[in-house]
Amino acid sequence: AAPILEVRDLRVHFPIRAGILRRTVGWVRAVDGVSLDLGAGQTLALVGESGCGKSTAARAILQLIPPTGGSVRYQGQELVGLDYRRLRPFRKELQIIFQDPAAAMNPRMLVGDTVGEGLKALGIVPNRAERLSRVAKLLEQVGLDQSALNRYPHEFSGGQRQRICIARALALEPKVLICDEPTSALDVSVQAQIINLLRDLQARLGLAYLLITHDFAVVSYLADAVAVMYLGQIVEYGPVSAILEAPRHPYTRALLAAVPQIDPQGRRPVLRLVGELPSPQSPPSGCRFHPRCPEAAARCRHEAPPAVRLGAGHWVQCHLAAGEGVIDRE
Ligand code: SF4
Ligand code: MG
Repeated sequence: AAPILEVRDLRVHFPIRAGILRRTVGWVRAVDGVSLDLGAGQTLALVGESGCGKSTAARAILQLIPPTGGSVRYQGQELVGLDYRRLRPFRKELQIIFQDPAAAMNPRMLVGDTVGEGLKALGIVPNRAERLSRVAKLLEQVGLDQSALNRYPHEFSGGQRQRICIARALALEPKVLICDEPTSALDVSVQAQIINLLRDLQARLGLAYLLITHDFAVVSYLADAVAVMYLGQIVEYGPVSAILEAPRHPYTRALLAAVPQIDPQGRRPVLRLVGELPSPQSPPSGCRFHPRCPEAAARCRHEAPPAVRLGAGHWVQCHLAAGEGVIDRE
């Protein structure tokens, strides 16, 4: 089946301005050539350290930030370059939930109105009483009862507020839900409940998730495929089993080595991530990971690595893998 969402060579470059004239003196390449496919009803995890461009990529996919270049196709339809009016019908198809559910809600708005906001704004259910009865059903879907309708966000726990945000996103019956670190602001005991809820909703509604996270426990539980992002680029991409069991990029291995439960036998060499994430304003030459890579060779400093296809949708961008697979593109 064709992917519901196809992203090709997506770029988001922000100008750096300086001086009284605010002249552009450089560019931050926050997202620098990202390509991914999300299948209907599937979960693709986008993983990487904070600051690697994951959230910016997500916002650019939703056209909340205008991409500098590249293509985002939803069900075959190009979204990049559409004006506000032409984008409107797609707004409800692609929804997003954020890390901090409290910040995503108006504290002075009743939960019933918050969840129904999109239904009102898009004129789908103009009558408030009808809207609230629709909202009551949505709340039930996320495990909250009707009494939530007439309460304010602050009366709920963090986990309950995330449920409210999920209900609000579902109100528009999207096919794609972008989940930006959906559990990382929550207590550990609550995280599993939200993950389970997301899994149940996917099974029931056939939603596709683009799951932004740095938590491999969440990845192993929810994801079908994984894209590993480093300094604005995807460095490894593949089915979740390949990424968790046979990661090939030194960066993916380093991320996984930091998660003890993923590799209890410690079979993989433990690579420690040393150094800070370099600035996307002046990314390192050659392989962008070379200043932190324990396996870097001389060529890594000046030659960008090719994309190497290792098999069954698994590919990696690293010189070391060049002899092990088919070189897809230089
Ligand atoms: Fe490390 Fe070189 Fe591979 Fe980059 S290309 S990840 S520096 S081995
Ligand atoms: Mg983020």
